[in-house]
Amino acid sequence: MPAPLPLPALHATHAGIWVADAKGEVREATRGEAIARAAETPHIVLNAPLVGQRLGYAELSGLDLLELFAFIHPARFAVPTPAGLSRTVGMSPPGSEAEAASQLQGIAASLLDRLTDPDWPEREGGWTANASLHRLGWSWAPLVGCRLERPERGERMLFSRLAAWEEAGDRPPPLAVSVDPGESESRLEQLTGDGAEPRGGQKAMAAAAASVFAPRRSRDGPNMLLAEAGTGIGKTLAYLAPASVWAERSGGTAWISTFTKALQRQLDSEGPRLFPNAAERTKRMVIRKGRENYLCLLNLEDALQGGFSGRAAILAQLVGRWAAYTKDGDMVGGDLPGWLPSLFRRAGSTALTDRRGECIYGGCPHYRRCFIERAERAGREADLVIANHALVMINAARSRETAPQQIVFDEGHHLFDAADSTFAIALSGQEAIELRRWIVGPEGRSRGRRRGLAARLMDVASYDEEGAKALEQAIEAARALPSDAWLGRLAEGAPFGPIEALLAEVRGTVYARSRAQDAGYGLETELAEPDGALVDRAAAALEALEALQKPLAVLARRLEAVIEAAPDWLDSQARARVEGAINGLGWRRETLAAWGALLARIGGPADPDFVDWLAVERVDGREYDVAINRRWLDPTRPLAEVVLKPAQGVLVTSATLRGGDGWETADQRTGAAHLDSAAGHFEADSPFDYGEASEVLIVTDIKQGDLAALAGGYARLIETAEGGTLGLFTAIQRLKAVHARIADRLARAGLPLLAQHVDPIDAGTLVDIFRDDPRASLLGTDALRDGVDVPGDSLRLVVMERVPWPRPTVLHAARRMAGGGSAYDDRVVRARLAQAFGRLIRRQGDRGLFVILSAAMPSRLLRAFPPGVQVSRLPLDEAIERVRARLAPGAGGAASVFEGRREAVANPD
Ligand code: SF4
Repeated sequence: MPAPLPLPALHATHAGIWVADAKGEVREATRGEAIARAAETPHIVLNAPLVGQRLGYAELSGLDLLELFAFIHPARFAVPTPAGLSRTVGMSPPGSEAEAASQLQGIAASLLDRLTDPDWPEREGGWTANASLHRLGWSWAPLVGCRLERPERGERMLFSRLAAWEEAGDRPPPLAVSVDPGESESRLEQLTGDGAEPRGGQKAMAAAAASVFAPRRSRDGPNMLLAEAGTGIGKTLAYLAPASVWAERSGGTAWISTFTKALQRQLDSEGPRLFPNAAERTKRMVIRKGRENYLCLLNLEDALQGGFSGRAAILAQLVGRWAAYTKDGDMVGGDLPGWLPSLFRRAGSTALTDRRGECIYGGCPHYRRCFIERAERAGREADLVIANHALVMINAARSRETAPQQIVFDEGHHLFDAADSTFAIALSGQEAIELRRWIVGPEGRSRGRRRGLAARLMDVASYDEEGAKALEQAIEAARALPSDAWLGRLAEGAPFGPIEALLAEVRGTVYARSRAQDAGYGLETELAEPDGALVDRAAAALEALEALQKPLAVLARRLEAVIEAAPDWLDSQARARVEGAINGLGWRRETLAAWGALLARIGGPADPDFVDWLAVERVDGREYDVAINRRWLDPTRPLAEVVLKPAQGVLVTSATLRGGDGWETADQRTGAAHLDSAAGHFEADSPFDYGEASEVLIVTDIKQGDLAALAGGYARLIETAEGGTLGLFTAIQRLKAVHARIADRLARAGLPLLAQHVDPIDAGTLVDIFRDDPRASLLGTDALRDGVDVPGDSLRLVVMERVPWPRPTVLHAARRMAGGGSAYDDRVVRARLAQAFGRLIRRQGDRGLFVILSAAMPSRLLRAFPPGVQVSRLPLDEAIERVRARLAPGAGGAASVFEGRREAVANPD
């Protein structure tokens, strides 16, 4: 074990603050003392923003171990806690919070020692990156620099170290083949392996799912099957079996689409069963995400060459280290640690992706090494593409790529919501300013490589006079769109241009008519009875949009003509760039047309297919956007038209597809109801004995609105369960208030409390920390209700603060009216309860309780819970006793928690 680093270290939690001096002597410190010492001498810390928050000193900086870890082991996973990092470097976790302070010194020493290890696998590029980080004032740079030997020969440039992708010809269309149920079952047996427990439901599902993988039976719709497969039947392998047989035999690609990253990761982990050879697996099973998830190398190059400054420039260097070692360049949920961007308070990380659709394709010097292009090409050649609902829908809607022929939508209960956001339209300040930037390019003092259309199409403009004229007109017309500082001008009542003027009127209408739902958060009002000023401004804005539409249409035509004429200068790179511009123009023109339709409706009759409303978007009382929004009343209609009907086979599956209702509801929520031929239905019950493994407690004596009682309830339940609790809230403000009241008390009892919207850590990392520490608890809102996958002992108690009724928004009111009034609300709540309950029992042997801290729980909603689960209404004291009895050592199930057993994430479905 290396000697601890002779530098002071600082560790702060809700339980207290500890400082280790340079000799490793630890003592407790007051807040003021710790701040003074940290301001004087840089201390070793773990997660500076988090420690700064605990100290109430946001400017805290120091030697952050997580930054050092990201430098030394880019693209490796580590739980960002003293215990997590200790294990990663091969040390035992600290025995107490006080010990954690000196442990930080040991971890630092161990990490720095790796730099002198001749077998350090991530050595290449380290010396060069550290030299740049030194110039940027990175606090670890001198300590790293004196341990790193200068390489004898100069290190290769980052970009030349990345492998280039190969261009391949178009793949022939898939052969028309069928998968026999027997073949599907045999493949399943192969996948589950010898000695695996036979699972009846899984076998039946594999056989049923085969029906989807066959030539279309109807001209106007796919072979469609809805499969409700209870948790634990092993549904992923049940559909991967026929999908892999079909892909092999037809030469086509089957798409598996998920809603959460957790499931995407789980599917990725099934890869070795399907393709044991790693090299083959990389080719045949590919993960695909939206472009905005991947690192754009051109943006990175710009950032490394001075485009970023201060802390953002340090982040760019660390991302540069990661870029050389990443599996696929995915910055969001891939192998870039989720905690890295938050260490830099997210400065710069989004600017490194292709978020604004600025890609210049073949015009980019890194095109042949681009992660996005590589993933897209790999996907075309693969047997199985693991994607997400949004990507599948966007690709189909924008005709970017050949629409998938065979699709499995897992987590199918989210299809409605995914379609809802994919097919949404928003004419907002933020959206409009992005459009202006894409067309006009950099203006004023803005920096960076952002280039406008004119710069990207310079060669086309000098070749084609008509195209050049259209380009000029488009740029002129785009100046009618909002520009920098537009929100300030709106607030001051001094909008510039017709769109800003419209948004100013929208803002005024919202403030005049809306009722604040959640102080400090979004405000909205329906788009009904608009007054004369709003109608006039909408008409002027419509004219401005039409003036932009026309030259863009001419330009698109001219670009197509250039591709057809194929002049000498149009080499393959120029062609890719022009095609990229045609593509980009296509969906921007679609957006303009949709905005036009929305504006044309102001002052006219409402379209019954849509719900329109005006909104001012805010976070913590700060405005960040003003919008006219439009959603489909039933977003499964465009889903059916654009995605389902062109497909050959579609399987939609989930553990809660019907949400406690009949198949009719599932047909409506998945788009199956809009197809000409009826979808098939399949169901397999969960093999778990829910009645034995869990129970539901409805606490009757906590009054709605009594925050002190609510917080007290949470604290006592968490103390009784000794952590392992997921607390779910319907409002961020109540979550924050409860957290503020109980975090210190629990921490002093050795029970860490993590919270979404409070801790400066992304939700994925919070779940990783929660999963890693059986004494930790986690508070969160919607995203956690759906995305937490924590099998085993780390999650043994789910506590909901109240019944998760839908928020009374304009959109909800419209859908409620169309969907049967309170019956609609009941369906929504039942689905949410079923999802929340589903977090508890993830695999055989899991045990736990589900508590609702609200007596206002109608009995008709209780069928959301699996049959056999006992539901009791009781006061808090009795609920505490039940929790104690069920989770106490010796009561079975969670007893092992107290023996400190940790479990790897296993296949829970
Ligand atoms: S091809 Fe596009 S996305 Fe890829 S690195 Fe270049 S500009 Fe970025």
